[in-house]
Amino acid sequence: MKLIVVGSGPGGMAAAYAAKMLAPDAEVRILTEETVESHRRPGSALALEFPDTKDLFISDWSSRSLVKKGIEVSKGVSVIGGDLKSGKLRVKERDGSISSLQFDRLILATGGRPVLPDIPGVKLSRIYTIKTLADTRRIGRVLKSIDSVVIVGAGFSGLETAERLYQLGKEVHVVVRSRLMRRLLEEPLSEELRRRIPKDIHLHIGSAPKAIKGNKSVTGIVIDGEEIKADAVTFMTGVTPNVDLAGSLGLAIGSLGGVTVNSKLETSTPGVYAVGDCVEMPDSLTGKPVLMPVGSAAARAGRQAAAYAVGRDKEYPDVSLRFQYDRLFGTDIVCVGHSSVTASDLGLEVKAHYLDDGHEYMKVALITGPDGRLVGGQVMAARMGAVVGYQIMERVQSGTTLEEKPLLTFRHERAKEVLERTFGPIR
Ligand SMILES: Cc1cc2nc3c(=O)[nH]c(=O)nc-3n(C[C@H](O)[C@H](O)[C@H](O)COP(=O)(O)OP(=O)(O)OC[C@H]3O[C@@H](n4cnc5c(N)ncnc54)[C@H](O)[C@@H]3O)c2cc1C
Repeated sequence: MKLIVVGSGPGGMAAAYAAKMLAPDAEVRILTEETVESHRRPGSALALEFPDTKDLFISDWSSRSLVKKGIEVSKGVSVIGGDLKSGKLRVKERDGSISSLQFDRLILATGGRPVLPDIPGVKLSRIYTIKTLADTRRIGRVLKSIDSVVIVGAGFSGLETAERLYQLGKEVHVVVRSRLMRRLLEEPLSEELRRRIPKDIHLHIGSAPKAIKGNKSVTGIVIDGEEIKADAVTFMTGVTPNVDLAGSLGLAIGSLGGVTVNSKLETSTPGVYAVGDCVEMPDSLTGKPVLMPVGSAAARAGRQAAAYAVGRDKEYPDVSLRFQYDRLFGTDIVCVGHSSVTASDLGLEVKAHYLDDGHEYMKVALITGPDGRLVGGQVMAARMGAVVGYQIMERVQSGTTLEEKPLLTFRHERAKEVLERTFGPIR
């Protein structure tokens, strides 16, 4: 069986690996426009500091390990169309020639494209978006001549970039339309995060860029009638699904602009699957389509699509469940499942409950649905946040209520309980 995977991000790589593991006899081939090793996007922040270093050790899937597994990879090629009925793809090779490739099953993992707002000055030089290693290198190469940077957007990647540039000694401004990580963190946690960001990072909360100033290169950005001087502007306001190939193959595109897939990640054409930032997936609670531009979700979906593509009915739990973890400004931040914002976007009525533990410097928000079942949660902690995040994930997956399985006895409380059992009440 010939399986072609288009894309070498986490969705495509996880799909190719899983397919080969589940069906060792399958011929698995990855086609990708990228010319470098598949890399983790978060790790590419290193390229800000070391733009010309070839090996940044940020690859989870090296070429050598692919060869070892028997997976063929064609880098620097672009799939430009094809005919799904006859199982053929048209491929533009590195030298510009066009070739044709036959497949039995196809998995598209073509990712997303960063969004740039339609405002005056957006075409000036030193306006950046960050998606690939090449994008980060582009900024890294001019970094010495940049003193001040404006980051637009305050999700995980915007704040991660802000922190890195701040550590590199730049004057950093963050512009955010509503509040920090609005879709991911409940308001009190978002506020706590704001408090933990160094005062020298200038936060412009509740603002949106109106225009970018400069001649050839950026000199500033206008927000709320005020101009912030800047030598560079980086937009980190999310991605839209890249459906160019899916569209030209005639696959159905949904209302959110992503490739439509069913719960088996199969597109409108049987035998053709799509995963990752390019799709809109059915939400596991409501069945409504959601965009989930998150690497870990792309990898889980890739693995699941591969299983179906090679004819296995193995089901992995909750492919569309969010699990995002990062350490920002000395704080672990973990977001699992729905927040009250993503839930209400889908018409779900939810309640937020808060746990706070000064001893362990931990704040937790738990989100429950109308039947009391846990549908998501968020953790901010000085350390070990991911451990608590996994506890939340496990409870969301098993559909428990907080009464059935209360969450989180903080470590110092557990220790107190043990001591009280021996020595009596401790005040
Ligand atoms: C700075 C940054 C930090 C991030 N941090 C995190 C994080 O901490 N945790 C997390 O989970 N997620 C993170 N993300 C998001 C994560 O990187 C994406 O969700 C993930 O990369 C999506 O994977 P994907 O496989 O869908 O597509 P992508 O990684 O976007 O890959 C798309 C692939 O498709 C190829 N392609 C597209 N069209 C064609 C074509 N026609 N022919 C051939 N090849 C084609 C491209 O070359 C590329 O290889 C971050 C993203 C950024 C930008």
